[in-house]
Amino acid sequence: MIDYHLHTARCRHACGAPEEYLEEARQKGLLEIGFADHFPLGLLGFKPRVEVTMEPGELDRYVADVAGLAAASSDLAVKLGVEVDYLPGTTGKLAALLAACPFDYVIGSVHFMDGWDFSHPSFTGRYQTIDLGPVYRRYFELVWEACSSGLFDIIGHVDVIKKFGFRPADDLEPYWRETARVLRETGTCIELNTAGRDAPVSEFYPEAAFLEICRREGVAVTMGSDAHAPGQVGRYFDEGAALLRKAGYRELAVFTARKQSRLVLEGA
Ligand code: ZN
Ligand code: FE
Ligand code: FE
Ligand code: ZN
Repeated sequence: MIDYHLHTARCRHACGAPEEYLEEARQKGLLEIGFADHFPLGLLGFKPRVEVTMEPGELDRYVADVAGLAAASSDLAVKLGVEVDYLPGTTGKLAALLAACPFDYVIGSVHFMDGWDFSHPSFTGRYQTIDLGPVYRRYFELVWEACSSGLFDIIGHVDVIKKFGFRPADDLEPYWRETARVLRETGTCIELNTAGRDAPVSEFYPEAAFLEICRREGVAVTMGSDAHAPGQVGRYFDEGAALLRKAGYRELAVFTARKQSRLVLEGA
């Protein structure tokens, strides 16, 4: 299996050096890993209330560290990825910044909705005071925009808006169908992100029914633990792989220099 969503201490809210994540991946018998630490929001001219990304000056060191680790690892492939916040109005600047780094893949994630860091545990109070229907609509609109920007290979935790367990009464299936359609049309992948199991919602991203819609639409998938500590590498991956197979997936998408290829899903 592959784990394409690993953070490091550089983003200021994770712990552990890249080497420690690699060591954990070896012990768990993974085939391939990819780091996807948080791209510096400072480079996009955005300052969140709580710092959740690398400092602008850290990006070069991050790239050099991961590239060095990749060159030294002969048994297990190490890829250089990054997780970027999708922020409307920053795509021009972002395109130039991404082109300047030798990334194997770029994960685009929606964590901010009009300035609100809705996936951060410090700012969940707002869920109780606003109408959840429009919140979900806005979230999915941002995901569609992120896909259409053409900047991202993978959308991170595609239904992370459910993280704290707040859901509107509306049927979510129309959002899932439209999202799968936009993903397919723009050639964007999803990830089976297992971190949601440890969040209040206690579910993977995306949940089983949404995953199945993506598979039927022909959307490719990677796997990611969203590890913020070395011990979290590959968390719940047996369960995640079983869920992928149940949804009909037989292959995983892997990336080199932003070109996608496929890897057979073990046990498929
Ligand atoms: Zn994080
Ligand atoms: Fe994220
Ligand atoms: Fe992440
Ligand atoms: Zn993440």
